[in-house]
Amino acid sequence: MEKTISGVIIECVKGDITRQPDVTAVVNAANAWLRPGGGVAGAIHHAAGPELDKECRPLAPIKPGQAVITGGHNLPNKYVIHCLGPRYGVDKPEDRLLADCYRNALKLADEHKIDSIAFPAISTGVFGYPVQEAAEVALRTVKETIPSLRHVKKIRFVLHSDRDLKIHEKVLESL
Ligand code: ADP
Repeated sequence: MEKTISGVIIECVKGDITRQPDVTAVVNAANAWLRPGGGVAGAIHHAAGPELDKECRPLAPIKPGQAVITGGHNLPNKYVIHCLGPRYGVDKPEDRLLADCYRNALKLADEHKIDSIAFPAISTGVFGYPVQEAAEVALRTVKETIPSLRHVKKIRFVLHSDRDLKIHEKVLESL
């Protein structure tokens, strides 16, 4: 499903973040050292190839809430924006840090004149953030950030399961 807010399309789809060829940038749910690892980071590095790891090394470490940008290498996207989400119950306040991820990623995208960007559900995997709470923070932050964007016209959430998709769709609907 999709919704337009101030001329920007927000959409939720089920899928794989590495298979979004029609967006200019994809967001990585990174670890502090920007290394491959598991989950989204593993999939992105696997699809992008070893040159992404090389480009990432001098940019690490990053802090919770921070975002950095690299090329997409063998991904079908021009850029990867790497965000470090908070570990639920560990990095506090987690809602502020998670909001920072989305705000900083969108700001960085806009500075690079990126028109379309796809996010995974940051922090909801290994980092343990409950999906409902994370979706509320993510979508509220996107809505709040949209008025300050000049170039970003499409923001996609790529969810890995039917359950996560449903939760995000409900939150988007009520936005
Ligand atoms: P974090 O460490 O920030 O929690 P993870 O990569 O462990 O990040 O998981 C973040 C979310 O992304 C989880 O909900 C997970 O199910 C989902 N996910 C895992 N692989 C992919 C993928 N290839 N594309 C989209 N979402 C994915």
